[in-house]
Amino acid sequence: MIVYFCDMARYCPPEQVEKFVVRHSKLPFKVLGLSEENRPIYVISIGKGPIKVMLWSQMHGNESSTTRALLSFLADYAAGTDFPFLNQLQLCIIPQLNPDGAFRYQRYNANAVDLNRDAQKLTQSESQLLEQLFLSFQPDYALNLHGQRTFFAAGPSGLPATLSFLAPAADTNRSIPPHRLQAMQIIAGIAKDLELDLKGRIGRYDDSYNPNCVGDRFTTAGVPTILFEVGHYPDDYQRNIATQFVYHALLSCFQHMARQSYNKYSRHDYEALPENHKTYVDILLQDVSVLDQGKTLSHQDVAIQYLEELQDGKLVWVPTFHSYGNDLALKGHKTIKRNSKIPNTIVFIPGGIVEFLENITY
Ligand SMILES: [Zn+2]
Repeated sequence: MIVYFCDMARYCPPEQVEKFVVRHSKLPFKVLGLSEENRPIYVISIGKGPIKVMLWSQMHGNESSTTRALLSFLADYAAGTDFPFLNQLQLCIIPQLNPDGAFRYQRYNANAVDLNRDAQKLTQSESQLLEQLFLSFQPDYALNLHGQRTFFAAGPSGLPATLSFLAPAADTNRSIPPHRLQAMQIIAGIAKDLELDLKGRIGRYDDSYNPNCVGDRFTTAGVPTILFEVGHYPDDYQRNIATQFVYHALLSCFQHMARQSYNKYSRHDYEALPENHKTYVDILLQDVSVLDQGKTLSHQDVAIQYLEELQDGKLVWVPTFHSYGNDLALKGHKTIKRNSKIPNTIVFIPGGIVEFLENITY
């Protein structure tokens, strides 16, 4: 199905999006407005159908997989791939809402504000632009596109969550009005369509209501809204595989919206998706000795988490200490048993760099 796969790395700064816009000059990109540091925020509208869908990606600057999937989709569209759902849909896409955060590879914008907690106060130019577009475009559906850390499992003892979804709440009672039910049904449809490749790897987020989050704000306004979160797939720290899955998920979502085929799914199909749990760390060392504050403990498991760091314009995964114990309720994406390359005694410093393990780069 995928004709072209966007050859971008996980670090996807604004110049990558600008290069894409220049390379595909026939696509009707416009500048929606400027970020807090005056970087352009692009928007593109394609499809002539009556059903209006608004999508925005990378409102958290270090969450680029959905941006890469959207640009792959737009590249395929520009290359002439036929997407029949575009007869029913009009898609209004912001590929990168937070270019200042994307430049720095950070969640927050240039003023250290989390744009996904600014939906009420609208203190930042990026939040204001999103809100203005929502009010003027008046979407029938909204897609809030994100990436998640590697610690989530789909269910308490599940596989790593490669994709996660949420139909955000519209009120503190977490009631299910018809438009929220639609979002749930679409998510159930997407999960069914991807079941062959991602069985047990699709999770669901907790639906506590927070009106400062954009998804909750738009659901409160009566628009079915879906949160997408792209997560971990084995050995895929660059998220190339996960990006392809989210591309498929987006196509599935568009098809269900165009054909209204989500009607055959129920709230229960959505609720049958396992809730996400923080179960995984990147590396688990087993049966090692740990020195912590002058005490040495033997037969410990040590949990290690990668810190994603931008070094000379490249993303590097730096191993850092997370926790230890003799019965840790954590799983590792990679498990290493005691061996000759590991020091006899590991000096544990919470959050400290694990010097005896290499940084990884891709
Ligand atoms: Zn996010």
